[in-house]
Amino acid sequence: MTELLKVENLKKHFPLQKGFLDNLFAKEKRVVRAVDGVSFSIQKGETLGLVGESGCGKTTTGRLILRLLEPTSGKVVYGGKSIFSYSKEEMRRLREKMQVIFQDPFASLSPRMTIGEAIGHPLKIHGLAHGKDAEQKVMDIMEKVGLEPASFLYHKYPHQVSGGQRQRVVIARALVTNPEFVVADEPIAMADVSVRSMILELLIRLKEEFDLTYLFITHDLATSKYICDRVAIMYLGKIVEMGPLKEVFSKPVHPYTSTLLAAVPVPDPKFRRTHPIPKGEIPSAINPPSGCRFHPRCHLASPECSREEPPLREVGKNHWVACNLR
Ligand code: SF4
Repeated sequence: MTELLKVENLKKHFPLQKGFLDNLFAKEKRVVRAVDGVSFSIQKGETLGLVGESGCGKTTTGRLILRLLEPTSGKVVYGGKSIFSYSKEEMRRLREKMQVIFQDPFASLSPRMTIGEAIGHPLKIHGLAHGKDAEQKVMDIMEKVGLEPASFLYHKYPHQVSGGQRQRVVIARALVTNPEFVVADEPIAMADVSVRSMILELLIRLKEEFDLTYLFITHDLATSKYICDRVAIMYLGKIVEMGPLKEVFSKPVHPYTSTLLAAVPVPDPKFRRTHPIPKGEIPSAINPPSGCRFHPRCHLASPECSREEPPLREVGKNHWVACNLR
């Protein structure tokens, strides 16, 4: 497998918005450490799952990779150089190759554009097709994502179709430029339970058909099982465990991964949970805990854990864990 993309020590700290006087007299600028030193690579053709609770920094990481946000520091290397040093023209060409499927299809579609116009919009922006040619490309992709009859749905507005169809519109819009890499940010979170598995199956089929590479962002570890080749578990702006899906699911090493796996619902009324649920709430990213960020919630924490920040260490083939005990 060839490496498609590499993320190196990526950080995004958002300045905390305060009043004028607070800013004037503040000894140091306070920041939200949304992403705080994340590194990983994605091989061509694989699906990497970025998994974690709300607020762990996974969506911000996805947006940095697409350069929808500028980083505080770090690199995203694509095509041999960091995208943060790409010129405007290079970025425009790159956006054809890197696309995104947003979580909320209703919010990401203009209510004034028909479905056909919305899907064809990227073709117009990138100058890839016009007129009848663009219309035919839109019809083709609509059929591929299951928006049929395409000629009928083409003229409908987003509010005139179902939630599942809107999600298919967003997928079609992401794929119409024939990209090679797609960030799928919680693509099934807003869909009805009845259509979630269909959308997942569609994403899996389209990956093969279009030779795609995915970064699949989700808060739900159970969902990653159906689509990912590898998973990276994020906690408070950092990756705490990363490895092949089967290995992480069968032999989780980090206590946080174990608790996430233990929280996956089991369809058996007699099943009794044995693994402890983490104590308390996820701490603030403004002032994260010292040492290991998980230590206030970890049932295995020792005094050393609050002093030393564990680096990611390889504990098995391509299996990395950040924990002082391993
Ligand atoms: Fe728990 Fe300590 Fe490991 Fe952190 S380093 S996960 S606190 S045992």
